[in-house]
Amino acid sequence: MTERPRPARLFLPGPTEVREEVLNSQAQRLIGHRSKEIEALLESIQGRLREVFRTDHRVYVATSSATGLFEATARNCIAGRALCCVNGAFSRRWQEVVAAVGKPHDVLEVEWGKPVTPELVAQALEAGEYDAVTVVHNETSTGVTSPIAEIAAAVRSLAPDALLLVDTVSSLGGIDVRVDAWRLDVCLTGGQKCLALPPGLAFAAVSDRALERAEGIPHRGWYFDFLVFEKYLRRRQTPTTPAITLLYALDVQLDRILAEGLDARFARHSAMARHVREWALERLELFAAEGYRSDSVTAVTNTREIDVPVMNRWLAENHDMVVSNGYGKLANRTFRIGHMGDHTLDDMQTLTAAIDEFLGAERS
Ligand code: PLP
Repeated sequence: MTERPRPARLFLPGPTEVREEVLNSQAQRLIGHRSKEIEALLESIQGRLREVFRTDHRVYVATSSATGLFEATARNCIAGRALCCVNGAFSRRWQEVVAAVGKPHDVLEVEWGKPVTPELVAQALEAGEYDAVTVVHNETSTGVTSPIAEIAAAVRSLAPDALLLVDTVSSLGGIDVRVDAWRLDVCLTGGQKCLALPPGLAFAAVSDRALERAEGIPHRGWYFDFLVFEKYLRRRQTPTTPAITLLYALDVQLDRILAEGLDARFARHSAMARHVREWALERLELFAAEGYRSDSVTAVTNTREIDVPVMNRWLAENHDMVVSNGYGKLANRTFRIGHMGDHTLDDMQTLTAAIDEFLGAERS
């Protein structure tokens, strides 16, 4: 086996720390993917996933990272022309996936650090004809949360036939998302962020309207075809061999999430975010526009020109913790602190005290 240093605790905006109990749940004998046992497991998972997504409809479980579901939405949900809202690296990636599968689209460009607003979406919808809108709830690259409930209301009133496709990859399970109340057509997420699972599973709540749209679109591919997902969901199975050990982890973690309670979980994320923001504002600056700062990840503007890789090595060696550099073009100009999943306020206080120690040592 490859020798590697002991990994530090992850304060990244994904993958995040996974509780030992959840990690250990994976070390169990496997079951067949067409067995009665997996049908019982998937059925029980389905009910609890719907609670977490706040939907009475279906939630598909994909063995892939969340980006796979970008491809699924592009292939299944865009028949005509899409409006892709882009305000950071992940919303840009989604638009690139839409382009890569050859779907016509226009881009609503928003400055990085700013939210997508219902007003901007309304303007775009008034200017063009779209049958789908893609938008990222929580832009992990910039630490910005866009107001999805209000955006959804704007889309419903101005383009009632357009499908609203929402990425909640770094929000679902940590920031309130209401799939049915907001009438989201697709709400996709990944396991490794606020759900605090090991990476490898992605989830999508999909509306009846979205499925009907898929029926009319030829050449949807196969691996991410919603109609194939639907067929197997009805059998309480997945189309292909799923990551069975990750389903064990999901089974345990869903119980933990629901035992904590969604509202309590959101409140904990909010308290962690408040602490990190206050800490950062006293020492540095925040990248995200005020009023739209994320409860799961904070992008700190590096006004002190901290050498982020050096700080991270120091944190790992001295405190067994790592944070994240800024994403892409924001590397070193920002660094990001993930306060998502199962971290606690106490953990965040320990982390910021450790960064203070580094900053103090750097000054002296
Ligand atoms: N969308 C957002 C908002 C993300 O933060 C990420 C990953 O960080 C992705 C999509 C892509 O997820 P994955 O790496 O699981 O494909």
